[in-house]
Amino acid sequence: MGCLFCNIINGETPSDRVYENDSVYAFRDINPQAPVHILVVHKEHTKNIDETTPENSHIYSDIFMAVKEIASQEKLDNGYRVIINNGSAAGQVIWHLHVHILSGKDNLGPMISNG
Ligand code: AMP
Ligand code: ZN
Repeated sequence: MGCLFCNIINGETPSDRVYENDSVYAFRDINPQAPVHILVVHKEHTKNIDETTPENSHIYSDIFMAVKEIASQEKLDNGYRVIINNGSAAGQVIWHLHVHILSGKDNLGPMISNG
């Protein structure tokens, strides 16, 4: 079975692109949880943090350099929240590592729901 985010990266599945460089692709979440909700993915497929190795750990520096660029490009000057849902208990449903950027309001609320 194919990977949705790999298909978004290669253009087979359409997306609302925000940013792209040689290693990273970013696009707007289809079901936004804040006025700004951007997903940042690496072009190299890994499932999640559990697959991190010394050989692929550049994925994190590539992603977070892009997060900084995107924050500047999108003028997220008041701040933003960065979330990685890692594994099913965290609510990960797409098994291609991705960082959520949430922003666009003065107070994003509690860090975690108590429900
Ligand atoms: P997670 O729960 O961390 O695995 O997050 C997956 C995210 O992908 C959710 O916020 C979804 O709304 C988002 N999503 C699913 N399909 C698409 C799509 N085709 N384009 C953009 N975002 C998507
Ligand atoms: Zn993938």
